[in-house]
Amino acid sequence: MDYTIDAYRPIVGTNEIEEIKMLASKLEGVRMHNVNATFEGGGVAEILTRLVPLLKNLGIRATWDVIKGGDDFFQVTKAFHNALHGKHMDITQAMFDIFDRYTELNLDLFEHEADYYIIHDPQPAGLINKRKDFPNSHWAWRCHIDVSAPHTKLWDFLYGFVKQYDASIFTMPEFSKKLGIPQFLITPSIDPLADKNKDLDSRTIKSVLEKYGVDPDRPYVTQVSRFDRLKDPIGVIEAYRLVKKRNDLQLVLAGGGATDDPEGAAVLAEVQEAAGGDPDVKILELPPFSDIDINALQRGAAMVIQKSLKEGFGMTVTEGLWKGRPVIGGAVGGIKAQVINGVTGYTVYSVEGCAKRIEHLLHNPDLGDAMGRNGRELVRGRYLLTRHIKNYLLLMIEMNESLRSDFSV
Ligand code: UDP
Repeated sequence: MDYTIDAYRPIVGTNEIEEIKMLASKLEGVRMHNVNATFEGGGVAEILTRLVPLLKNLGIRATWDVIKGGDDFFQVTKAFHNALHGKHMDITQAMFDIFDRYTELNLDLFEHEADYYIIHDPQPAGLINKRKDFPNSHWAWRCHIDVSAPHTKLWDFLYGFVKQYDASIFTMPEFSKKLGIPQFLITPSIDPLADKNKDLDSRTIKSVLEKYGVDPDRPYVTQVSRFDRLKDPIGVIEAYRLVKKRNDLQLVLAGGGATDDPEGAAVLAEVQEAAGGDPDVKILELPPFSDIDINALQRGAAMVIQKSLKEGFGMTVTEGLWKGRPVIGGAVGGIKAQVINGVTGYTVYSVEGCAKRIEHLLHNPDLGDAMGRNGRELVRGRYLLTRHIKNYLLLMIEMNESLRSDFSV
C-alpha cells in the first residue's frame, strides 16, 4: 500500500514533512527515472519499491525500470560485484565482452525520456551512453556497494562509464574513491509504514512463527538475507552451535533469491548441509514479497543477526533496529554505522565473538530491549524513507543550476 507524505507526520514530526513538501514544490512535474537490475530481491529493489511511489505522491514524475539480461550477464555482474567488493576473482576479456553486448542491447531498448536519470549500481552503468539522445538531462550513478578497494582492471573498465556521469552517489564516504565527478552521500532507508516494518500484533507474529515451525515460547535468533556467502550464513550456524551447547536456542535463517543473483541455489544447498537436519534450525526459502512474514520473524526474535563479511548498507540491520531488536552484526560496511557497540547491539569479528554476544544478550533480555529502544530512535533520526526522499529532492535541486539559484539568498 502506498501512503501520502502526511501519513509519516506522526512518526517524524511536522517540521520534516513541511520541509519535504516545500522542496517538492520546487520540482513539481520533473521526470526522474531510476534504472537497476532487478525488481525483486535485495536492498536496491526494496528501496525503489517504496521511494518511487512516495516521490510520485509529492508531484515528481518518478519511474523505475530494470535492464534486460540473460543468465550469462548476471553471472558476469555477480562476479563483478564480488570483485568490486575486493574479493579475488578472475575477471576475463570474455566477461567484458558479455557485459558490453548486454549494454548495447539495453541501449537499443532504452527510450525513456526524463529530466533526471538515477542509474543504480554497475549493471546498468553503460546506459550513460544514451545521454546524447536526451539533451538537458542530468545523470547520476548511484553506487550502493563499496568500491574503495576494487579489482583494478575491472574498475578501469567501469570507470569508463562512471566518469561520464554528472554526479555519483555513495552510501558511506569510505565506500568511495576519487572520481573526478561530484559525489553525494545518501544512506538508504526503510519505510516504517511498509508491510515489512509496520507494527504487528502479537497474534500475527505468533501465527507466522507457527507457520514456519518456530516455537514461539522458546528464544530464537534470526538472519534474513539472500543466500550469499558474503552474508556468512554458515558462520551464523557455527555461532548458533556454540551457544546451543549451553543454552536453549533456535535459529531462523530466512532468505530468497534475487533475480540478478545466480549463486543463491548453491549457497542454500551449502547452508542446508551445514544445518545437518537440526530441528531447531529453520532454513526458510521465502518467495518474493514475504514482507509480513519477514516483519514477524524479525519482531519475534530475541535478537537479529547480520553476520556479513562484506556489506553495502545492510537494510536488514535497519529493519531489526526499527523493530526494537538488538542487532549483532559483522563489523563491515554500513553495519558499523548502525550497530553502535553496546548501544544498539554488538559488532563482531568472528564466529566466537558472535556466539559470545548472542549468549550475553540471551542472559540479559532487559539489556537487549534497551538496545532495541536505542536502535529504534537511531533509525527514526537517520534511516527512514522521509530523510531519503529529502536527500533526493535536494540532489535534483543541486544538479539543476537554475533551481539552485532559486534557493540562493
Ligand atoms: N529480503 C527479502 N527477502 C529475502 C531476503 C531479503 O525481502 O528473502 C530483504 C530484506 O528484508 C532487506 C533486503 O531484502 O530489506 C536486503 O537488503 P540488505 O541491504 O540487507 O542486503 P542486500 O541483499 O541488498 O545485499
